[in-house]
Amino acid sequence: MRETRNHLLVLEAVHAGPELSRPELAQRTGLSRPTVSGVADELIASGLLEERVSGPRRGTGRPPRLLALAPQAGYAIGLDFGRDHVGWVVCDLAGTALAGGRREVAADASAAENIELVAGLVEDGLEALAVPTELVLGVGAAMAAPIDRPAGELHADNLLPGWAGVRPQPALEARFDFPVVLDNDANAGALGERALGAGAGVDDLVYVRLSTGVGAGLVVGGALYTGGAGMAGEIGHATVVEGGPICRCGNRGCLEAVASPVAVAALLETAGGEPMSVARMIELVAAGDRGAMRAVADAGELVGRAVAATVNLLNPRVIVLGGELAQAGEVLLDAVVRAVARHASPPVAATVEVRLSALGEQAEVLGAAVLVLAEAPRRLVARVGATQARPRSSSAT
Ligand SMILES: [Zn+2]
Repeated sequence: MRETRNHLLVLEAVHAGPELSRPELAQRTGLSRPTVSGVADELIASGLLEERVSGPRRGTGRPPRLLALAPQAGYAIGLDFGRDHVGWVVCDLAGTALAGGRREVAADASAAENIELVAGLVEDGLEALAVPTELVLGVGAAMAAPIDRPAGELHADNLLPGWAGVRPQPALEARFDFPVVLDNDANAGALGERALGAGAGVDDLVYVRLSTGVGAGLVVGGALYTGGAGMAGEIGHATVVEGGPICRCGNRGCLEAVASPVAVAALLETAGGEPMSVARMIELVAAGDRGAMRAVADAGELVGRAVAATVNLLNPRVIVLGGELAQAGEVLLDAVVRAVARHASPPVAATVEVRLSALGEQAEVLGAAVLVLAEAPRRLVARVGATQARPRSSSAT
């Protein structure tokens, strides 16, 4: 038995499925039912698909049997390189996080130090899970800076100083024995929320990451829209305050300069005269502190203004608010909703729903794993007919 185009078609259909009956598979692939059945049986024998009995009986017949990817037929590693943290996760093919974590790092730590740290954590994680490395499909990495395509250069400037002059893909491939895929953190967050969080099943989605960097990940017609050079979604540099503070990009009054969590905390620090961390500001909001709530709501108004322009342009169904500022919760959400309603074209604004991130600080690292899972059918098909490899811990023998 050898892999064929038909095996790939069936794997791709099931991957998009995510659970399909054999007649549904025939319809989606355009293959005949006998062909689909033969291919599905081979994929089951190779350990790549599994059959599940699902749902109520239809009439007097047997309950429908649905095909799905076998979750433990492959694993994806997600990495998240932020300004002051690194994160990692190991997911199965269903996108379930089996292990992961997050470490604070110094903002000026070198790329090499951060890669070494996270590689050690991943190796320990795979070992603890008893995942054989041959079942790892690849590494996805979310980078907290724009990535120029196809050159693969990171615009690290003030965001990831330790990465200046480092091309992430070769640097990661030199340390990991797996294929590496990359995207910036806002795009990864969009993919994470769409696959596993607040945007599940939504084909037109904008994820707004309100962190040290402010940016948006755009999902248009079910696919990530990255633009001509891979840098679409730089909503953080929309001018929202004429003559406002100077931004790191050199312009004045950019959204990032006035509504990043650090910028909002700095306002409170000026008002209160005591040092104010982002974490403390979020605590104050949760405790109902009027000044903190006002500062977050004012930032939300400015976010909403910038988002309204995006809403007019793209007509998304859902806006997901992520990043540390989203931890402020309803205060931020309400302000953004009001500003979008005020500043976007009313009929367009009426069709969009603004939601808070469901994955929180995990959105980017899970999205990085989703980058790998998107390639699962192509990577799995090479295993058709090969001896089944399984995690050592779940071996039946
Ligand atoms: Zn700017």
